[in-house]
Amino acid sequence: MNIIKTTCAYCGVGCGIDATVTGNRGVTIRGDPDHPANRGRLCSKGSHLGETIGLEGRLLHPQIGDQRSDWDTALNLVARSITDTVAEYGPDSVAFYVSGQLLTEDYYVANKLMKGFIGSGNIDTNSRLCMSSAVAAYIRAFGEDVVPCSYSDLDEAELIILVGSNTAWCHPVVWQRIEAARAAHGAKIVVIDPRRTETAEQADLFIQIAPDSDVALFNSLLAEMQVRKAVDADFLDAHATLPDGFWSSLSISPALAGIDEAMFGALADLVAAHPRMITLFSQGANQSVVGTDKGNAIINLHLGLGRIGRPGMGPFSITGQPNAMGGREVGGLASTLACHMGFSEEERDRAQHFWNAPNMCSGPGLKAVDMFRAIHEGKIKFLWVMATNPAVSMPDAGFVREAMARCPMVVVSDCIAETDTTAFAHVKLPALGWSEKDGTVTNSERMISRQRALFPPAGEARADWDIIAEVARRMGHEHAFTWADSAEVFDEYCRQTASENDGTRKLDLSDWVGLNKAGYDALEPKYWGGSSPFADWKFTTPDHKARLIAVTPPQTRKADPAYPFALNTGRYRDQWHTMTRTGFSPKLSQHRREPLLEIHPDDAAAKGIKDAALARVQTPYGTSLFRVRVSDGQRRGEIFVPMHWTDQTSSDGRTNLLPGPHNDPISGQPGFKNGKAQVEPF
Ligand code: SF4
Repeated sequence: MNIIKTTCAYCGVGCGIDATVTGNRGVTIRGDPDHPANRGRLCSKGSHLGETIGLEGRLLHPQIGDQRSDWDTALNLVARSITDTVAEYGPDSVAFYVSGQLLTEDYYVANKLMKGFIGSGNIDTNSRLCMSSAVAAYIRAFGEDVVPCSYSDLDEAELIILVGSNTAWCHPVVWQRIEAARAAHGAKIVVIDPRRTETAEQADLFIQIAPDSDVALFNSLLAEMQVRKAVDADFLDAHATLPDGFWSSLSISPALAGIDEAMFGALADLVAAHPRMITLFSQGANQSVVGTDKGNAIINLHLGLGRIGRPGMGPFSITGQPNAMGGREVGGLASTLACHMGFSEEERDRAQHFWNAPNMCSGPGLKAVDMFRAIHEGKIKFLWVMATNPAVSMPDAGFVREAMARCPMVVVSDCIAETDTTAFAHVKLPALGWSEKDGTVTNSERMISRQRALFPPAGEARADWDIIAEVARRMGHEHAFTWADSAEVFDEYCRQTASENDGTRKLDLSDWVGLNKAGYDALEPKYWGGSSPFADWKFTTPDHKARLIAVTPPQTRKADPAYPFALNTGRYRDQWHTMTRTGFSPKLSQHRREPLLEIHPDDAAAKGIKDAALARVQTPYGTSLFRVRVSDGQRRGEIFVPMHWTDQTSSDGRTNLLPGPHNDPISGQPGFKNGKAQVEPF
């Protein structure tokens, strides 16, 4: 039977899949042995994709209110609503909230419409919640959002430090690769995390730090390396700049990280002894009110030791979603323009010229949390949500629901008919789902791969890029939104990276300019920037030097007797986001049937809470009920709950009602990992 090569719908590992269509929406899934990201491996979620592609629950037709509509009527209504809203209230009264589930072509068209033709920066993606702190840290250090490593570096590393990453559960195929490096040449694995996760249990060294103490730990490590004369002064002289007083701003303070000197010494010994060192960081580092500083503390260590741009070395952020990276590249974040450009007058002019855009935005737009705040305040009057479920996934999700309920026009394009977010939609537009989409994605190591259609569209569903282009044309922008297929959109994106690149940016797809449909369909996985984009040690700054950034540990939070616990949130191995897809798989649901509140035995005893009983978690933002799992993997005073469950899947256990909307001031990423909470028996 015919094998169709595509990529997994879930995480940023970006595994290649060999799909064999076996009948009407039937498919056999195997790992693609030829895909460099996974070499044939898949995790449980990817392996069970075939169980999640039925038509059950699909949005099959456009809907206006509760009534079935047709595309023409619905698209005209959306286009007219945007035009009228902009005419009455200005371009910043309109916002798009998009998703790392979109393909790069979808993202490209949405960004172009908003930033060049509506004239606002108000397009942000749910990737803001996932890795925007890493983006900000890379831009501060390198002058461009460039992940400096690839998975092949994991194969060559002698020491792999995992920071805020339950890799074994959340990026299982990367974890298998790390285990292979350990088996092949004895790579050492260190896990730095406030929780003793499934990954931590398999580490050579587990550093159970206090929440948000990563900056103190990495500053201490760099200071310790200076004392041990392990700093690479030649590299720093030639390829980096340091702010005045940088070294004196560091101190060796393991107690600030909540660990003792012996533990710190063991970590420092490993770092000193293993030059081929990867520091792989994920949401535990990024989802913090000091997430950007954490990223820069990690990058500082690598720059200080000259451990970047060489095999088996580098500060490596891995993304949660399948195409968070593609969104970063084309401008899906409100804080970047397109193709890694910022909002300087020169960059805006270049984008305007390339797009022949009549209404260029004047600057960045509102980031996710601020966007929903502006909706709540009535400043944004039109919201288009694409392929995401903010009614569940945003922090302070109760407030987000209130905001959408107040918004005069909410459009939702999605493949699922009934989500917590579609409940607020005035217009629902049926979008293609995985197995129907056709386009490109970029994984965590900057590898662009094709996602290919296995089946015809469900019902009247259409590609997101096509829906957006239809709306743009109905707004009078026919000349700029006339692509025949996703291959033509991709070609325009490649041309923008090439023609608008001033020669210094690593993101340059000029090799692919002019690719025809056949070439696009046959596209093999390929990195942008190469497997090691800083192998030349030329960074994207005016002097081509990297920047060490002085970062200071945050103040310790004042004790609050009303909310004495630190609230941490995260993922389960076999569920994905708000379960709108994985919830369809009976096999995946067997792993964890309900969300569990994890609490240290001493805290449980003090509260009179027993294992398997129910307990209520309360924060200043909401209350939710969970079954209890007493676990000594938690630090005392800290609790953990998973993020996935929704109104649709459980009458309680809703987690994102609980975290507050507190952001990193640089990246705008919410601090999901260290909220404050109270726990009481139910
Ligand atoms: Fe899919 Fe990620 Fe699992 Fe790979 S590791 S199969 S991309 S969920």
